[in-house]
Amino acid sequence: MSLSIRDQKHNWHPYTQHKTAKPAIAILKGEGALLWDENNKEYIDAIASWWVNPFGHSNKFIADAIYKQLTTLEHVLFGGFTHEPAVLLSEKLMEILPTNQKKIFFSDNGSTAVEIAIKVAMQYFYNKGEKKTKIIAFENAFHGDTFAAMAASGISFFTEAFQGSLIEVIRIPVPTQGNESISIEALENLIKTNDFAAFIFEPLVQGAAGMVMYEGSELDKLISICKKNNVFTIADEVMTGFGKTGKNFACDYLEHKPDMMCLSKALTGGTIPMAITTFTQEIFEGFYDDDVNKALFHGHTFTANPTGCAASLASLELLQSEEMQNNIVRINKNHLDFQKHIQTHPKVKTTRVLGVIFALEIKTENQESYYGNLRNKLYDFFIENGIILRPVGNIVYVLPPYIISNLHLEKIYKTIEEALEIV
Ligand SMILES: *Cc1c(COP(=O)(O)O)cnc(C)c1O
Repeated sequence: MSLSIRDQKHNWHPYTQHKTAKPAIAILKGEGALLWDENNKEYIDAIASWWVNPFGHSNKFIADAIYKQLTTLEHVLFGGFTHEPAVLLSEKLMEILPTNQKKIFFSDNGSTAVEIAIKVAMQYFYNKGEKKTKIIAFENAFHGDTFAAMAASGISFFTEAFQGSLIEVIRIPVPTQGNESISIEALENLIKTNDFAAFIFEPLVQGAAGMVMYEGSELDKLISICKKNNVFTIADEVMTGFGKTGKNFACDYLEHKPDMMCLSKALTGGTIPMAITTFTQEIFEGFYDDDVNKALFHGHTFTANPTGCAASLASLELLQSEEMQNNIVRINKNHLDFQKHIQTHPKVKTTRVLGVIFALEIKTENQESYYGNLRNKLYDFFIENGIILRPVGNIVYVLPPYIISNLHLEKIYKTIEEALEIV
């Protein structure tokens, strides 16, 4: 029996309606931008396996670092103990993070990184005897699937069943082109009430919403309003971090830096689940006290796992190499060329490019739902053609590993163009 069939007996997959979904494709091997299934069919991973893998599958450099760490110190508790990979990683991150970021807190995934940022914002004010418990977030945001992260997320069918059990989050429009002033006005009006602890956002690109993009200069205005009103800003860089936007972090495009940043996904080069939330000194000092109750009582068993830290250190080295920086520029150039070619296609509504991210919206008669028929038809077409792309409604986006070849990029573009003929 195939793995694909055996899988169905016990495995419950994410974001999957098992009654209508096809069996999961069983992948046996990955190398670079390619994956092979159990029938030896080849796929180009055009979305870097949910945006985690910049340096290619089964990367030897990261694998060696992991092996070396596993055979030196695989894990030790981080409560009361520390270790070299965590110290080195914190030092390395300080070199590339915005200079106002001074403290890092480890956890396991993007959702926990967000969860921690929100808890820290609330407790910071609680420690000072101030009641600020509400959060501001963008419409159609995605910040993860645990409770606080889910509350901050605005994609309705992800969260519908849990309304009423969530922290209070008020939404403002995203300052996309044409919506700049309504976004700013909405924030200015809201913030007067003085009970908000933080504003959380995906800087420059809303990934799960379909790579929706907006200008850094607009985000700068929103951040500066928050700063004036004593509301913390949280940049969720779980998707955008580590080169995706063409700079190390999307926040590198900003003049006003956020108070907190959430990192995960590409942090370990897509090898080991790990996340980091970073903070300013001011925030850390809100917890620094003779009173033990003012400490941050949050932790996960595998906090700062040495193997994850070693994988991250190896990843950062790859990211900073000239070769990888050139790859990012090369992919961006390819995307821009394809954009120029495809944007006048009669079935194309709009296109956008930032860094290694390309997105294209298909013209449709009706509003397409997130997991609707058009999306499924496109998804199946790409899979048949050996390309892993996960359209969002009528939006097709590409976010490849940075090591992808021009030839494979060409194949992705050509297949997207062909897909426009079947819709
Ligand atoms: C993926 C993602 C998350 C959630 O990360 P998980 O590791 O899936 O929990 C949070 N925020 C953003 C912007 C993401 O893209």
